[in-house]
Amino acid sequence: MTKNLKTPKTVLAVFAHPDDMDFSSSGSIAKWAKKGATITYLVCTDGSKGSENPAMTPQKLSAIRKAEQLKAAKILGVKDVIFLKHRDGELIVDTKLKEDITKVIRQKKPDLVITLDPTFLYSTKRGFINHSDHRAAGQAAIDAVFPLARDRLNFPHHEKRGLYPHKTKTLLLVAFEGAEHFEDITGTIALKLETLKVHKSQVMADAKFEKRIRDRSRQLGKKSGFAYAEGFKRIELS
Ligand SMILES: [Zn+2]
Repeated sequence: MTKNLKTPKTVLAVFAHPDDMDFSSSGSIAKWAKKGATITYLVCTDGSKGSENPAMTPQKLSAIRKAEQLKAAKILGVKDVIFLKHRDGELIVDTKLKEDITKVIRQKKPDLVITLDPTFLYSTKRGFINHSDHRAAGQAAIDAVFPLARDRLNFPHHEKRGLYPHKTKTLLLVAFEGAEHFEDITGTIALKLETLKVHKSQVMADAKFEKRIRDRSRQLGKKSGFAYAEGFKRIELS
C-alpha cells in the first residue's frame, strides 16, 4: 500500500462524462490544486445521455452538463477543462480517441495522469456494471500515456505543430475495488461534496447522498489511516 503522492506539478485527468472525476477523485484534485498543481480536465464524451427526464434532449443535456462541469472545476481550482465531445454511450477505443488524448498529453506535459481503471467491468457484490464509456476512456488514456505520447514516431505530424513526445511519470487509476494507493482527503471532503452538488442533472444532493459519499470516503480512510480518503491503483513509469 502507498499513500499521499508528493504534490504533482501538472495533472491531467482523463474521463468519460462530466462528473466522473468529481465523484472519484475531486478530494485529491482539490488538495493538489490548493498546493499549486496545474490541473486539466479532459472529458471524452458530450454527456448527452444520462437523464430520465422525458422532456430532456441530448443537446440540452449536453449543454447543461458542460456548464455543471465548468462550475465544478472552478470550485476545485481546475484551470482548464477540455471537452472532446465524442458521443455519450458510444465511446470507442480507436486511434481517433487515442490521438485526441495523446495531443493533450503532449501539450500539457503532465507528471501525473489520472483516469478510470478500464479493467473493472462489474461488481456482483455491489450490483454494478462499469459504464462502457468509463472503460473506453481509461483504456485510451493508458495507451496514450504509453506508448503513444512517449515515442516520437507515433503521430509524427504532431512535431510540426510543436507537440513533442512526453513521458508521464505517474499514472493513477481510479480503483472501483481493491485500491492500493490512498490519498488523504480529510481537508477537502467538504469541497468534494460542494462540487458534487453542482452536478444537479445527475445528483439529488440530499442528506442521504451526502451520507453515501462520506461513508465511502470514510471506509477508504479506515483502510489507510485517514479520516477520509480516495483510493487508486498507482503505476510509477520507469
Ligand atoms: Zn460516467
